[in-house]
Amino acid sequence: MPGFELFGDLERKEVHNVLDSGVLMRYGFDGMRNGHWKSKELETELQKAFQSKHVQLVSSGTAAVSVALAAAGVGAGDEVIMPTFTFVASFEAIMMLGAIPVLVDIDDTLTLNPEAVENAITPKTKAIMVVQMCGSMGHMGALQAICNNHKLLLVEDACQAIGGSYKGKPLGSIGDLGCFSFDFVKTITCGEGGAVITNNQEFYTNADHYSDHGHDHNGNDRGAETHPFLGYNFRISELHAAVGLAQVKRLPEFLDIQKRNYTILRNALSQILEVTFRTIPEGGEESYAFLNFFLPDLEIARQVSDEFKANGIDACFHYFDNNWHYIRKWDHLKDLKSLFPISTEVKQGLEYLQTKTFQKSDHYIGRNISCLIKLSWTEDEVKARALKMVEIIQNSI
Ligand SMILES: *Cc1c(COP(=O)(O)O)cnc(C)c1O
Repeated sequence: MPGFELFGDLERKEVHNVLDSGVLMRYGFDGMRNGHWKSKELETELQKAFQSKHVQLVSSGTAAVSVALAAAGVGAGDEVIMPTFTFVASFEAIMMLGAIPVLVDIDDTLTLNPEAVENAITPKTKAIMVVQMCGSMGHMGALQAICNNHKLLLVEDACQAIGGSYKGKPLGSIGDLGCFSFDFVKTITCGEGGAVITNNQEFYTNADHYSDHGHDHNGNDRGAETHPFLGYNFRISELHAAVGLAQVKRLPEFLDIQKRNYTILRNALSQILEVTFRTIPEGGEESYAFLNFFLPDLEIARQVSDEFKANGIDACFHYFDNNWHYIRKWDHLKDLKSLFPISTEVKQGLEYLQTKTFQKSDHYIGRNISCLIKLSWTEDEVKARALKMVEIIQNSI
């Protein structure tokens, strides 16, 4: 997945343009910038890559989720349905707005189980956030239908699925709003950065203003701009956007390498009867950023994970015991360990986490191993890795 593995002259050239003009900010200073508008150029490139009318760059993927929800009017006391398997950013971004994350089970797609989503809807539900984890997607048709029936927003966190698609549409462009991260370990990186994409003009204008203190961005005198509503600062800098601009041009190359490496590993593992793979919904194509597979039970998965580590098979994760990606280890959320007081609404809204169990999620995450697909591997290295992985799995079952 990580684009940082392949930095080169293109990245250096874009960054030097910015350093030469000295304008590190994306807005204003028109006379000094020698025609360099890296953030705007990157937004245009992303519109093409994600086939989306509007793109708003922001400072991170976490910011992208908060800005997307805020742009669509989600806030205090609203419930947002999200999966148990994701990155901590998902609930952080929701809670930042005073909204309540409602965690529900996943299925063998490794993202939202549509039935669990349907069962979690209450009069307070405003949005469903599908997290396209590890390069693939949820049952988008079913989730879209639920949103249509209940008049809910569909938000896609596609941070880990840059370049994947569903029925020909890029992941992120299917819901009302899509969110991307360009942090250091994502498929394309800015160092830090993120984007909100949407075809909705109003959501876009809201995102544009909200991510820059509510500035209306009318005219070319920043000091004279008005503030139609309150905002924050979630701006990206020109330095970060410059790196992203070089990286987005290399996305097709990155995706080809991912697919080649993924396919070698998958073909090798397919020969083991006991290994099964996550479900890819019909019409879906992965980004090939990860290879996810299931082993027969939790104990075997733990053993394989340990053996991988002991034998130099790096970048493979058994998320069941992981602090960052799965509900089991999120005690700071369950116990509401906040530096500052949290609203009564959110406190009450999260009480369910004290008692709720997620057996279906445990069933899938307990048996799942997720291997990052690196861009820097040579074909021979991937083949050697595949042989070793097969040997370790066969010795563990
Ligand atoms: C990386 C990631 C984010 C957050 O992105 P940052 O840019 O690191 O804030 C959000 N959701 C998912 C699924 C991610 O993988």
